[in-house]
Amino acid sequence: MVFAHDAEAALVSAVELANSAGDPDTLTEPDQLAEFFARHGYTGRHTGDRDELDEVRALRASLRALLLSDRDAAVVLVNEMLARAGAIPRLVRHDDEDWHVHATDPDASLATRIGVETAMAMIDVIRADEHSRLGVCADDSCEGIVLDLSRNRSKRYCSVACGNRNAVAAYRTRRRD
Ligand SMILES: [Zn+2]
Ligand SMILES: [Zn+2]
Repeated sequence: MVFAHDAEAALVSAVELANSAGDPDTLTEPDQLAEFFARHGYTGRHTGDRDELDEVRALRASLRALLLSDRDAAVVLVNEMLARAGAIPRLVRHDDEDWHVHATDPDASLATRIGVETAMAMIDVIRADEHSRLGVCADDSCEGIVLDLSRNRSKRYCSVACGNRNAVAAYRTRRRD
């Protein structure tokens, strides 16, 4: 594990959320947000309506900016996000989850909670000076964010699809040569 379990979970879900804004956009319906919410084990307020969806959709650009900014710029964004949300970190234990950090009220909007959770996770990335774990997909035609939590820092593609496409292309190039 590179970061604490809750920080890693927050980074994984933030990257997936930011990448959903690609082409095609894969977060356009409340059902898709409900599925994301359940799959990533979110707790707290979840209205399931359009307003919530729109707010989460609008958050994606700032998540992308935060995840891809350089270290010093990320510090400014993290501090801004935490101050704006009035974040107060506290340790909690609920459901099957061991001690982890919450920094927002469970009644704050889902977008606010995701934003703060991502900012809290970026605190770990910044302090550990592990920005190289975040980058853009090595596929020439893809703008997806890559989060590399592997031990040997070997992850280059944002998705299995991008990895496979490039493996096939590399294979063809080798055959041709
Ligand atoms: Zn929790
Ligand atoms: Zn990709």
